[in-house]
Amino acid sequence: MDKVKLVVFDLDGTLVDTMGSFANHAATLMERHYGLLHETGYSQYIKTSGLPFRQQLEVLFPRNHKNAYVAHQFEEWKVENLDDASFRPEVEDIFDGLRDLGLLIAISSNNLQQNVDYVSQQFPSQIDTVLGFRDDKFHKGEPHFQWLETHHNVDRSEMIFVGDSLNDCRIALDCEVPFLALPTTFSIEQFLGVDPNVDHVDPITGIVDWIEESQGQIQTTDLPMADSSFSPWIGRNTSA
Ligand SMILES: [Mg+2]
Repeated sequence: MDKVKLVVFDLDGTLVDTMGSFANHAATLMERHYGLLHETGYSQYIKTSGLPFRQQLEVLFPRNHKNAYVAHQFEEWKVENLDDASFRPEVEDIFDGLRDLGLLIAISSNNLQQNVDYVSQQFPSQIDTVLGFRDDKFHKGEPHFQWLETHHNVDRSEMIFVGDSLNDCRIALDCEVPFLALPTTFSIEQFLGVDPNVDHVDPITGIVDWIEESQGQIQTTDLPMADSSFSPWIGRNTSA
């Protein structure tokens, strides 16, 4: 991992505590339209989270003709209930801490772009970029990371992607973006099953210290051997 310049947050389940209500409504729809037990639908929603809901349905009910309709119902419900989605109370301090470190902040979500824009209005000055699901070619993963590299002139090795789902962890691995797990929806053991080297913070407020410490380690490691007695570097790091 290089020096972090851009922190990329997943939204639902990471910055916004929406997973319970999303899973509950998704389970209601799955019970109504596919005859699934509510508790089974709930756990299957969680298990496949991190994907657009339409894709979650394709995983659970491959090529079922009801998928498009049910996905549309779910997205409409989300729009109607957007005012219930607010950032975790600790997010403002986290954003302030990251800004103080001089870092850029982005959101990368597979929730619809219009929903992510709406929710993100709570922090217009702290969040640099808000990326949601726009279509099959623009979503969380490679399209979002490419967009961020181009528009912020950073390499993906200078990003850290923070997410709560196992799919987030897989996406980060596939795209070779450093990942930090937030074990609220899944346990750290489940994340380790996807990536044995994954790091995590719990609670999420630990992220500012985690980044600061990781930067310190990188800068110390990066010191050339011949300059190991060059103290101004170290002094500057610890006083930053
Ligand atoms: Mg999430």
